[in-house]
Amino acid sequence: MNLVPTQYRNVSVAEVATGLDEASLRAHLMGRPVYRRTQYLVARRGDACAVAEVSKESQQPLFSPVTGVALIAGAEETAFVDAPETDTGVPTQLARVAARCAPHARCVVVRGRYGHVSFIADPAPARIRVVEVVPPRPAKLVDQLTRVLDVAEDLPPVELVPDLVDLAELAASRPAEHYLFPCRAGGRPVGAGAERGGGTGRAPGVSYLDEVPPRRPWTLVGCARSRAIHDWFYGGPVDTVDMCPRALAGPGPVLTKCCLLEDRVAVDGGVVVVPWGASLAQVKEGLQRALEAVTEPVAHAAGGGPNAAASRRRGPASHSADLRASGTTMRSAREGGK
Ligand SMILES: [Zn+2]
Repeated sequence: MNLVPTQYRNVSVAEVATGLDEASLRAHLMGRPVYRRTQYLVARRGDACAVAEVSKESQQPLFSPVTGVALIAGAEETAFVDAPETDTGVPTQLARVAARCAPHARCVVVRGRYGHVSFIADPAPARIRVVEVVPPRPAKLVDQLTRVLDVAEDLPPVELVPDLVDLAELAASRPAEHYLFPCRAGGRPVGAGAERGGGTGRAPGVSYLDEVPPRRPWTLVGCARSRAIHDWFYGGPVDTVDMCPRALAGPGPVLTKCCLLEDRVAVDGGVVVVPWGASLAQVKEGLQRALEAVTEPVAHAAGGGPNAAASRRRGPASHSADLRASGTTMRSAREGGK
């Protein structure tokens, strides 16, 4: 699975006049000198191509005779794709091109940036669920992960599975006349609660905690940190909807972020959590931990099958009990709204 050459220099491309089956390629290649770095050969004939692994007599001289040929993928299961924007040194980029341009091919040869040719055989990217809230859009953690994966030469192919919780929908799960969101910078959650505004048809009011507005009856749509800030400025009880992705994520494997985590990546079973303001380095570390979680699923992840979907929003809450005691609903509006 996910066979990808470690370097483009390991891949040679040859136009051949023979058949592309193993016997023909072997007959053609045996004894021929190949470059010392060559490990894989992409053999092309017209529009068809096949991929073979070659062994050599020695890796010391610059060129050495071929002593063995093993077919990796024959012509009927191999596609050749021109993708000049693709960095063929990055497994995730190869897997993306394969899925987009040749989803049915067992092996996809890609000619990408700088004209470099590489391939991916039996692509099976690790699927990593990413839970976070929007706005802002694009979802920040998903966007950061995408950018990290764009250059992740040292990681196996990954496919992100964004699981986004819309703050407006989350707010609408708890109808109120007025909502308090953490900050304006994230963008106004569109139509928060408007469809369930008590039948008046009037959109609820919205304020932002970072502007420290005058106190009024409101429902805080925020994380544990916003709740603590609210307590600092206003004190007293406040109706709260917890929007921390960690609290919404449910059982792993999952990659998410938390308002309370400031300077490190935390792993709890298959739940990998990066700080709310994670750097790209922390995002990459989280990605590596999440890869370990999906390749070695933890025991309790067994409860996360398709039938667990209805309950996963009520997954293990990771914040102090006072949030729940204040009547917090840790459930996405998607459950009740559809
Ligand atoms: Zn949190």
